[in-house]
Amino acid sequence: MSDYNAIVIGCGGGGAVAAKELGERGLSVLVLEAGAKHNPFEDYYLMENTQVNPEDGVLRWGSSDRSRPMWYRDLAQNAFLWQTAGVGGTTQIYLANSPRAYRRTFLDGGGWQQDNDPLRPEPNPFPFGYGELRPYFEKVEATLPVAAAPMTLKEDLFFWGASQAGLSYVGDTRDQWGLGGYREQPNAVLPPDPALNTNGPTEHFLYPNIKGCVLCGHCIHGCRHPNKAPVRELAKRSTNASYAPLAEDTGRVTIRPNSFALRVLTGDSPGEGLIASGVAWRDTLTGAEGEATADVVILSAGAVEDPRLWLNSRLPDPFRQVGLGLTTHHFDWVVGTFDRDVNQNAGQGSAARCDFPGMGAIELVGLSPGLFAFGSYEFSRAGYNLKNGSAPPWDTRGRIVGPDLKAAMGDYKRSMALLVITDDDRVTARDARGRPLNGVDISQDYYPDENGPVPYVSWAVETPGTRARREWLAAKAAQILRAAGAVNVHRADWPPLLLHVHSTMSMGTDPASSVVDAWNEAHMVRRLFVCDNAVLPNALGGPNPTLTNQALTTRACDRIAATYFAG
Ligand SMILES: Cc1cc2nc3c(=O)[nH]c(=O)nc-3n(C[C@H](O)[C@H](O)[C@H](O)COP(=O)(O)OP(=O)(O)OC[C@H]3O[C@@H](n4cnc5c(N)ncnc54)[C@H](O)[C@@H]3O)c2cc1C
Ligand code: SF4
Repeated sequence: MSDYNAIVIGCGGGGAVAAKELGERGLSVLVLEAGAKHNPFEDYYLMENTQVNPEDGVLRWGSSDRSRPMWYRDLAQNAFLWQTAGVGGTTQIYLANSPRAYRRTFLDGGGWQQDNDPLRPEPNPFPFGYGELRPYFEKVEATLPVAAAPMTLKEDLFFWGASQAGLSYVGDTRDQWGLGGYREQPNAVLPPDPALNTNGPTEHFLYPNIKGCVLCGHCIHGCRHPNKAPVRELAKRSTNASYAPLAEDTGRVTIRPNSFALRVLTGDSPGEGLIASGVAWRDTLTGAEGEATADVVILSAGAVEDPRLWLNSRLPDPFRQVGLGLTTHHFDWVVGTFDRDVNQNAGQGSAARCDFPGMGAIELVGLSPGLFAFGSYEFSRAGYNLKNGSAPPWDTRGRIVGPDLKAAMGDYKRSMALLVITDDDRVTARDARGRPLNGVDISQDYYPDENGPVPYVSWAVETPGTRARREWLAAKAAQILRAAGAVNVHRADWPPLLLHVHSTMSMGTDPASSVVDAWNEAHMVRRLFVCDNAVLPNALGGPNPTLTNQALTTRACDRIAATYFAG
């Protein structure tokens, strides 16, 4: 008799969904979460450094005891890997953009080869048709819920620029084969209360007098609005506010924060072979270790920690697929400066987008000043603009420093930034030391930390196709900004900024080229499921990944209940 029906490792984008879905089916579930369980109203700060500094901020990848060092990763090159520990995981700081994967990335979609694109490698589609996932997309969209984002000044200007650049308004394209054009973001954010438009005393703007998004622009710092709202009523539907409370409502789910899973335990079962049978973890505050057994184990630790946990647990990987094929949407960042205020600090963090199915997407993103300075003018692989100069369509490119940086930041409220999201190719080659060129392994060079050998993360190969799509999108972003009236256009030319992190435990039917089957269950270890971004077999054609992760997780839970718990 096991201690639990299921143990879920990680309570982020995917794990909280698994907990709620399994709890609702009457299963007893233990969720081990490495980070804290925050009360946003008490624990989140509006000061950006205190909140999101990756070394010691509240929402960092590290222990909830912020006097301790962050948890290290061995990064192969100049890169920024942005993930967050705690109930809600990285969705605590996500922008909640929730588009569906494009139909063409599914088995019945035909991939992008039909465009005769010579730069496209073989497709690695989902091993089932789009119709199979559609009801699960709908269920997640209703649960979060997802709604078209409200417009503010910056979105109006973006739409104007997109239309002047020759793009069409495509509205709600969620079920299309992939229409190119501009639209409101489908966001997992509660719509603003119409009462926001009225004047009144301060109490008027406190929960419960006001509900939903207050357009404060702090989405990346973690949403703590409306003021004094209970966690489950917070405007942004990070899983700490949406799925985790619903999981606890079932009365069957125990969420254990500050508990870092160290090993997946296994056993041999007659008729099944090697099975997952439990998990060993470490309390990150006391250092005490614990173990529990379960009928199924679900890895939802994210696309970096899943491979680490698999390899540290010495689970079988005869085809060396674990950690291979990281896709990241190879982002870039293009900034327009206008001769009037754009107010990037107001409204939802990202409320408008252009889709270019198979190329990727362009999103309008508003950032707070520190993040804006870093993202726009300091994080670049192009060197210093003053040394390298720039050629059209950019006025400036690379790092901006000294008086030029002061002047650029003086234009903060007149600046509009566009995020370039590239549909990047999945690369599965290894380097001379056997490490994935694009992927995750155990570091051969760093010492273990308190949670064991640390992950090595590399995104080194930009295929000709990925590069061409990224260049095309960056030039399109410049065109939109100029059409909107920008008087200066700057390209950051980012090194790898890893915040859409997927495909390291890819889904597929062949164990020689994938880690999990079409139902998220590991080919090599029965009763072990992976439910997070790691299973995405490709970069989805460009859309942001979390909604697809959550739909796949919901579908996997149907399977888990039917296969191992008789429905
Ligand atoms: C600034 C920013 C903005 C973003 N905006 C968007 C957006 O608008 N739309 C979108 O789709 N995506 C967005 N993303 C990406 C989004 O956050 C991820 O797609 C999503 O969180 C991934 O879910 P996951 O379950 O794979 O991983 P995570 O959400 O990272 O969850 C993994 C969880 O596992 C825990 N964990 C890890 N290892 C262990 C262990 N060994 N034991 C116990 N627990 C463990 C972690 O602490 C974490 O809570 C954004 C990311 C960033 C950084
Ligand atoms: S803009 Fe809306 S969703 Fe974003 S932090 Fe403010 S209240 Fe929350």
